[in-house]
Amino acid sequence: MAVAVSPHLLDTTEVFLVDSDIRRPIAVVSLSGGMDSTTLLAHYAASDPAYELVAVSADYGQRHRRELDFAARVAAHYSAEHIIVDLRPVGVLLTGSALTDPSVEVPEGHYAWDTMKATVVPNRNMLLASVLICIAVARKAEVVALGMHSGDHAVYPDCRPEFVDSLGRCAAIGNEGFDPPRVEAPFVNISKTDIARRGAELGVPYELTWSCYKGADKHCGVCGTCYERREAFRDAGVPDPTGYVDSRAEFAKAQG
Ligand SMILES: [Zn+2]
Repeated sequence: MAVAVSPHLLDTTEVFLVDSDIRRPIAVVSLSGGMDSTTLLAHYAASDPAYELVAVSADYGQRHRRELDFAARVAAHYSAEHIIVDLRPVGVLLTGSALTDPSVEVPEGHYAWDTMKATVVPNRNMLLASVLICIAVARKAEVVALGMHSGDHAVYPDCRPEFVDSLGRCAAIGNEGFDPPRVEAPFVNISKTDIARRGAELGVPYELTWSCYKGADKHCGVCGTCYERREAFRDAGVPDPTGYVDSRAEFAKAQG
């Protein structure tokens, strides 16, 4: 924090603080470029007191690399510093996941364990959260923010509340004496539909976000995350700005 001394007050001990130099608290926010993490960034951008935002994306060689471009646009929209951490040397070791292993096909349809387990990246959130906590400690940030929601719990065990709580304890213990950040996941107990509602309230530019696992020029509309995205907008009653390759037949079938 900067302290300015008025030249007229040099003979006194009186000083005053320059408001513009008062350091804002820092939030290190996980930003994939999808709906959830974009709404998360908006959530912290709208918080009071205002945070200085550091958005962190990970390049782990994921198939849907377009999301990194979208993440950059979202970060710019919210005037956040954007850091892309290159984890590709780790990603190539994560065989067996449809998101990191080109030999594994991306499943289509609703999220359900039997099919969507192919989209689990081994220990992903531990890896990503560790990187965010490292950055947060280095920057003396107050918060590390993660964007998991209740719909993730069934397929992704590292999206559950107990995992987030444990991360917070690990960060506190492992960085004791070095101002460890809080680990927050404000959406962990709400649904993606609730996130869409919250995003609409915050004016989130969802046209800047990317969800599809397939990483083509347009959202496919039929992979697990496209289904989730479409359903969330529909159920929240929020206009969906996304252009999908297939936005009707398969979705109608899935609704029964
Ligand atoms: Zn898709």
